[in-house]
Amino acid sequence: MLDRPTTRAGWEARAADLKPEGRAFIDGRLVPARSGRTFEKRSPVDGRIIAAVADCDAADVDAAVAAARAAFEDGRWRNLPPAEKKRILLAFADRIRADLDHLALLETLDVGKVIGNALAVDVPFCANCLQYYAEFADKLYDEIAPVGPDDTALVRKEPLGVIGAIVPWNYPLIISAWKIGPALVAGNSVVLKPAEQSPLSAIRLGQLAKEAGLPDGVLNIVPGFGESAGQPLALHPDVDMISFTGSTEVGKLMMVYAGQSNMKRVALECGGKSPHVVMADADLDAAAEGIAWGIFYNQGETCHAGSRVLVHRSVQAALVEKIAAVAKAQIPLGHALDPAAQMGALVEPRHLERVLGYVETGRAEGARIACGGRRATADGLEAGLYMEATILDDVAPNARVAREEIFGPVLVVTPFETEADAVRLANDSIYGLAAAVWTADMNAAHRLTRSIRAGTVWVNCFDRSSLATPFGGFKQSGFGRDRSPHAIEKYMDFKTVWTAYR
Ligand code: NAD
Repeated sequence: MLDRPTTRAGWEARAADLKPEGRAFIDGRLVPARSGRTFEKRSPVDGRIIAAVADCDAADVDAAVAAARAAFEDGRWRNLPPAEKKRILLAFADRIRADLDHLALLETLDVGKVIGNALAVDVPFCANCLQYYAEFADKLYDEIAPVGPDDTALVRKEPLGVIGAIVPWNYPLIISAWKIGPALVAGNSVVLKPAEQSPLSAIRLGQLAKEAGLPDGVLNIVPGFGESAGQPLALHPDVDMISFTGSTEVGKLMMVYAGQSNMKRVALECGGKSPHVVMADADLDAAAEGIAWGIFYNQGETCHAGSRVLVHRSVQAALVEKIAAVAKAQIPLGHALDPAAQMGALVEPRHLERVLGYVETGRAEGARIACGGRRATADGLEAGLYMEATILDDVAPNARVAREEIFGPVLVVTPFETEADAVRLANDSIYGLAAAVWTADMNAAHRLTRSIRAGTVWVNCFDRSSLATPFGGFKQSGFGRDRSPHAIEKYMDFKTVWTAYR
C-alpha cells in the first residue's frame, strides 16, 4: 500500500495518477451507458477534467431496475440467513475502510471538500453507517399480536422490493450509506442515482460491494443527470420506493412522479435554513465556535448548516466579532488537497456564482458585510472554485438572504429583543431541518426546544451527531428519517399472517 501523502504536492501527484471509473454498475458489472454517451467530470478543486462518466438515461435505468427486481424476486439476498447478510455487509464496510485514501481522493476531486475531512469524516462515516446497519441483520424481530388463545396473528415486517435512491453531491458517500445500509439490511434491492456532480465514489461503492460478496443485481449504480436518469427512476412502474435527498424543489417533484406512476412510497430529506437562537446569557465563546463550524464546515454545503443566527441585540456585536475570529483562526480556506485546509472549493461554477449572487442580494437588501464576501484566488486557488467565509450582519428577517437556502459559506445575522420574537423568527421559515439554542438558563432552553419546529434541536452545541439518532426535517425539509433503527422501518412494511386453530 502507498504511504498516505502529507502535503498538497503529494496529494496532487496522487491525483494526477488517478484513473477514476466512470461506467455504470448494473447487475454486478461495470457497463457504459447503452447510448454510449458520456459526460465530462471537471474537478472544482482545480478545474481539471478527471473522468468521462456514463450518461445514463431511461434505458440504463430500465436495465438497473430489471436487475434489482430479478435479484429481489429470486431471493438471492433477502432470503439469505441473517448471519450471512450481516457478514457480507460487514465485509462491505471493511472494504470501504481499506479503500480509505482512494475513496477520499475521489470525493475531494469530485466535489471540492477538503481532503482532511474526506479522510476523517466522509469515508469512515460511510463505513460506520454500513456496519451499524449490518449489525441489525440478525436482530430484527417480527411481532405476534394479542388476538386471543385460538389464533396466531403474526405481524411480519417485509422488505418493499426495489428502492430507488436519489442523492445530492454535498456528502455523496455518507448520504448514499444512509440509504443503502437500512434498505439492504431490510432485504431490498437498490438502484442508486448519484448527483451528476458527484458520481465517482458511488461507482466505487458498487465495485466494493461486489468484492465484499453482495450478490449481483442487489446494488446498482446509475450515474447521470436529474432529468435523464433521476426522473425515469422516480417514474418507474417497478420501483417500490424513492428515497430522496436533495433540494425541496426537486423533492416535491418526487411526490408528483409517484402520483403519476405507481404510487410508490417517497421519503424526502430536503433543504434547510437552520437557525441558532443565541440568548443574552449564552456562553458567547462556545456559541461562536459552534456557529462558525456549523456554517463554514464543508464550505457551508450542508443541508442542516446553521445558516441563520438570531441573537439578542445586547450581545450581537460581540458575537459577530467572535464568530469571525473563530473562522479566521480555526477554519482556514485552502486548496482542497492541502491537508491543513478546513474550507475547500464549492462544487461547480454555477453554484459559486449563485452563492456570490446572494452576497450581492444581501448587500442590496441592506446587510453589513462583517467578513468575507468574495471569491478567493490567492495562493494558486484561481483555477478552482473557492470563496471566503462570509458573515452578513443586521439582516432583516424578510430579506431573501434570511429566507432562502444559500448552501454556501454565508451566515446571516438578525437581532431580536424577546424570547417570543426569537421563537417567531426561528419558526418563520418553510424549512424545519435543525436548530440550536444557546443559553445558560435550562428552563429557557426547555421552552425553546419545545417551541421550535425542527427535526433536531441542539442545546449549547451544534452538529453533534450519531447513527443512533434519526435525522431529517419538519415542514418542507421533508419527511421520513435517515439514521437510527427507525430508518430500517421506512424500507419495510407490515404483513399480517393470521392462523386459526381448531
Ligand atoms: P438537487 O435537488 O438539485 O439534486 C438532488 C438529486 O436529485 C441529484 O441526484 C439530481 O440529479 C436529482 N434530480 C434533479 N432533478 C431531478 C428530477 N427532475 N428528477 C429526478 N431526479 C432529479 O439537490 P443538490 O443541488 O444535488 O443538493 C443540494 C440540496 O440537497 C440542498 O437543498 C440541500 O439542503 C439538500 N440536502 C438535504 C439533506 C437532508 O438530509 N435533508 C442532505 C444533503 C443535502
